[in-house]
Amino acid sequence: MTLVTTKEMLKDAHQNHYAIGAFGAHNLEIIKAIIAGAEAIGSPVILQTTSSTYRYVEMPYMIALAKAAAEQAKIPVALHLDHGESFQVVTECLSAGYTSVMIDGSKLSLEDNIALVRKVTDAASSLGVPVEAELGTIGSVEDDLVSMEDQALFTDPLMAERFIRETGIDSFAPAFGTAHGNYKKEPKLQFDLLGKIQAVSNLPLVMHGASGVPKESVRKSLDYGVAKVNFSTELKDLFAEELRAYLIANPKESDPRKYFIPAREALIELVKTKIAMLQK
Ligand SMILES: [Zn+2]
Repeated sequence: MTLVTTKEMLKDAHQNHYAIGAFGAHNLEIIKAIIAGAEAIGSPVILQTTSSTYRYVEMPYMIALAKAAAEQAKIPVALHLDHGESFQVVTECLSAGYTSVMIDGSKLSLEDNIALVRKVTDAASSLGVPVEAELGTIGSVEDDLVSMEDQALFTDPLMAERFIRETGIDSFAPAFGTAHGNYKKEPKLQFDLLGKIQAVSNLPLVMHGASGVPKESVRKSLDYGVAKVNFSTELKDLFAEELRAYLIANPKESDPRKYFIPAREALIELVKTKIAMLQK
């Protein structure tokens, strides 16, 4: 199969109250683990990268890797831009062949955010590529700005209704208590708020920062319209841990065809666990 967009997979997940896992795809080993994990469960999957990832991998390699993964895979695979920070970054990905994009104007005023997202949906829709956008501040655990507890940073449902109507986006990432990075304490998701956002949006919702969110909370969110769940931190942590442990235990090993294998095997299991958690 060639790379597909996230349109159909998110639509089906949203209608049937399950979710698609979207995983940070940082290199060949991680991409192969994501695909193998998704194939084992039999679920479509989203490979996603930030702009810093595709700059690290380099765009021609990024696209070639994702396309090769999709062609080999027995399940639908999409390549998604996570937290696109500008119109330029988004258009770079659209021209290169990404099949789904997020524009993150969450640091802008509501007016400016709407204008930026509108510009992106106009550009993407002519290519048939769906757009995700964020309102409110999800933030990262390491930042001072974290939406975990600060009401002021949560998404306002009335603003969300206007934002969705005026931008024409395909999926929506609200701030309702998750954050990026490693949680210092268990996040408390705001399900009342999520219910209000669900009622005004009628779009597939996206949970960012799902690494470390308890299984019960992730599963509960599926009843509130969450149809895409993003994991990156846990994958990076496990990959590094396994690689480090192997190299410490085998200090003379210098063959990348050997030392990556335990890390990749561990990631396959993690991806399987995460995707299984998102099934109905
Ligand atoms: Zn995110």
